[in-house]
Amino acid sequence: MLRVAVIGSGPSGVYTAEALTRQETVPDVAVDVLDRLPCPFGLVRYGVAPDHEKIKSLQGNLRKVLEDPRIRFLGNVCVGPALTPRRLLGLYHAVVYCVGAATDRRLAVPGEDLPGSFSATRFVSWYSAHPDEPPDEFALRARSAVVIGVGNVAVDVARVLARPAAELRRTDVPEAALGALAASRVTDIYMVGRRGPSQAKFTTKELRELGALTGTDVVVHEDELALDPHYTDTADLPAVARRNVEVLREWAARPLEGRARRLHLRFFLRPVALTAGPDGRVAAVRFARTGPDGGGRVADTGGTREIAAGLVLRSVGYQGVPLPGLPFDARGAVVPNAAGRVLRDGAPSPGEYVAGWIKRGPTGVIGTNRPCAKETAASLIADAPRLLARALPADPLDGLLAAGAHPVAWPGWLAIEAAEAALGRSLGRPTVKICDWQGLLTAAGATTRPPRSA
Ligand code: NAP
Repeated sequence: MLRVAVIGSGPSGVYTAEALTRQETVPDVAVDVLDRLPCPFGLVRYGVAPDHEKIKSLQGNLRKVLEDPRIRFLGNVCVGPALTPRRLLGLYHAVVYCVGAATDRRLAVPGEDLPGSFSATRFVSWYSAHPDEPPDEFALRARSAVVIGVGNVAVDVARVLARPAAELRRTDVPEAALGALAASRVTDIYMVGRRGPSQAKFTTKELRELGALTGTDVVVHEDELALDPHYTDTADLPAVARRNVEVLREWAARPLEGRARRLHLRFFLRPVALTAGPDGRVAAVRFARTGPDGGGRVADTGGTREIAAGLVLRSVGYQGVPLPGLPFDARGAVVPNAAGRVLRDGAPSPGEYVAGWIKRGPTGVIGTNRPCAKETAASLIADAPRLLARALPADPLDGLLAAGAHPVAWPGWLAIEAAEAALGRSLGRPTVKICDWQGLLTAAGATTRPPRSA
């Protein structure tokens, strides 16, 4: 039997497990899907915004895969000093790392770490009930919030800040975050891009949702949009960029309705510093005005702008982090690989594979991970005759337990789901997520959390 460990139960991990069990070349396959958290589904659970119910429902598809009897989910298992890549290779014929991009990119400007300035990924973790994020981290006492970056994560966090809390009550957002959002004093949200509207990374469906928010006016400045040579002539643009510009043009012509909140979409502003107020907390973001440089990028034009901000969410992309014991390409922030085969000193390392963001970088939508995972699984299956030549202990679970793991298996996860449904019922809401380690482990019937990886 070919024994495979998949590290990470987000979309890339689950699609890898699916591809390995669907192929027919090696019929006898057993896949353990390990995750540091007691809950499966990665960014589908802890990244997709709570009000994106349709995307969240993908969890149902991932769940079906993990219910396959040839696949075993083992949460609460951390690859780290006690369970190294080398040790894993002693338990499995192959290990596929699907660990995503675990941190945020840095802005590298002065004041970036002032109190009140956070990565957007932390805000996402907070409203998604990630157990590593303190439930009371965001008090939302500021009137003005600046979101730096114009990708889909920026759109998510801007929308959650703007959306009336009553609408979020219908989602699985944790109680503490819901309370803070309901008491939020934020009236003005600025989402700021360093390049032009035709170069924004958000997709049109996500952009349009901002225009449909109840209680929020979307403010755009036509003179700023018009700095983009494609603002009036969209003919040469790719379809998404063309539609984005068309939506923004539509909004520029729309009168404001004097609603309680305003969402300002700003462009051609490059952040250069975050500045503090007398209390030492962030008070403003200083930007350099940019303009098209004629070659598809932008250049500073000499002007500056300052936007007041008691809350700053830096949403400039995710970044992969090195996993001790695995090679890492620091430039691309990925594990060097060829079609998913991990490369050590340029040569494929027998039995080690990657899929998802740690293989190709943090780009694409959830579905992009499926072909990516299939490619990796195909490489692994092609290597199977050589991998199977290695003798292994009977059940890798014994090895995991010997390494100090206290796994939460599928029934434990089902118990967490049941506890979250019961919590929702007790609050008169649908399922409400449990947001702390102890609560999750108690619900799962487990007792010990794994140490954090180095
Ligand atoms: P992203 O799409 O790469 O967007 C990053 C944004 O940050 C860009 O606007 C980028 O501008 C800007 N940026 C980067 N460095 C900057 C700097 N130093 N100063 C100012 N701005 C800077 O990243 P993301 O929004 O984190 O999304 C990650 C992936 O998840 C994407 O593939 C996204 O589509 C996906 N996602 C999808 C959904 C959905 O489908 N609903 C939701 C969330 C995330 P430049 O373009 O100028 O570099």
